[in-house]
Amino acid sequence: MQTSPLARARGVLFDMDGVLYNAEQPIAGAAEAMAWVRAQGIPRLFVTNTTSRSRAVLAEKLARFGIAGGEEDILTPPVAAAEWLRAHAAGGAVAVFVRPATRAEFAGLDLLDDEAERGAAYVVIGDLGTHWDFRTLNRAFRLLHHNPEARLIALGMTRYWLAADGISLDVAPFVAALEHAAGRKAMVFGKPAANFFHAAAARLSLAPEEVLMVGDDVEADVRGAMAAGLAGALVRTGKFRDADLEGAPHPDLVIDSVADLAAAWNYRYFTNRTALPRSL
Ligand SMILES: [Mg+2]
Repeated sequence: MQTSPLARARGVLFDMDGVLYNAEQPIAGAAEAMAWVRAQGIPRLFVTNTTSRSRAVLAEKLARFGIAGGEEDILTPPVAAAEWLRAHAAGGAVAVFVRPATRAEFAGLDLLDDEAERGAAYVVIGDLGTHWDFRTLNRAFRLLHHNPEARLIALGMTRYWLAADGISLDVAPFVAALEHAAGRKAMVFGKPAANFFHAAAARLSLAPEEVLMVGDDVEADVRGAMAAGLAGALVRTGKFRDADLEGAPHPDLVIDSVADLAAAWNYRYFTNRTALPRSL
């Protein structure tokens, strides 16, 4: 009888920044919500497009906020991209534009020297944040330009995020610049690419339609997940703005914060499209 996407969910994917914390500020009730998920035995995985930190650093951050989770509980674009490259990049050098802490995820691959402007078979673009400058972006362009066969790989296509000092450019704008200049489309590892959500569901041993994605990015988290066959829940924390509710499709669930997840989960016959009743 009940076929709402939320009612089918048996496992949950959690975005991290904007859902569990804003930069260095924990979101009220997030630790309790994560403890509830564990106590219920609900399969869960943290999925973040953050490429500026390694999983070890992210796990430490979770611990600091009272949230249990090891590196194996976190799926990031560098992990997914490195897995793909290890399987497919035999014989081709890989140029990675990521912060030093993230390079470890690419261990075992034939990594190109940081100054090289030729010779890459794969050009991987992550979040360099304030480390981006013209010379660095131009070096990525030259690597692509000098090898028309080189693949451009994007570690997520998040457009912006809420940094401690305000809204900030994420990976997508830099990838878009390189796509435009080099005249080729990027392969995307990370949200909102469907293969990333499917890989995450597989890690929970669940089908995509059995998984709920909880995020603060209506496009990369929620609509990306819904397009991949998952249920999508939008939290009104992090980068959320009221205008996010104007587009289509509407999220399967909208909650004030992740702290309301338990109520929504226990009330899954409630058929979405509005915030939960106050009485919950
Ligand atoms: Mg987020």
